[in-house]
Amino acid sequence: MLSGSCLCGEVTFSLAVSPKFFYRCHCSLCRKQSGIGHNLATLVRAADFSWQSGEEAIASWIKPTGYRNDFCKPCGSSVPNLLRNLPYIWLPLGLLDDAISPLCIGDYCADDAMPWDDIPAETRHAQATESVRALLDKLEVP
Ligand SMILES: [Zn+2]
Ligand SMILES: [Zn+2]
Repeated sequence: MLSGSCLCGEVTFSLAVSPKFFYRCHCSLCRKQSGIGHNLATLVRAADFSWQSGEEAIASWIKPTGYRNDFCKPCGSSVPNLLRNLPYIWLPLGLLDDAISPLCIGDYCADDAMPWDDIPAETRHAQATESVRALLDKLEVP
């Protein structure tokens, strides 16, 4: 069982699986969401995820296009969210409190990256993934 938490510790959650892979997205939204050149996240099955505390402290910002950022109201940390009403959770990897060693499956939206953001050639993808299912397959999430 892995655990994760936000900056202030109000929002906590646990994971029944250890993610094997993660991805980075370099689009303008993910840059602003993270404050750096990309966000770094994985997807897990909702069945493998449970909130432990602080769900009532979470606020959502959702763009009309569907892009969503859930965050802890007291501290502003981005926190996991339910993926477009699918039975999967989007999980920013930095929230995990356990040291795991997942591998990067891809750097997406690399054409939108800032020049100061280094992207390894072997994981570079010019655009986003073709579908959520394709991303799930690459992450080996059933
Ligand atoms: Zn917090
Ligand atoms: Zn993005």
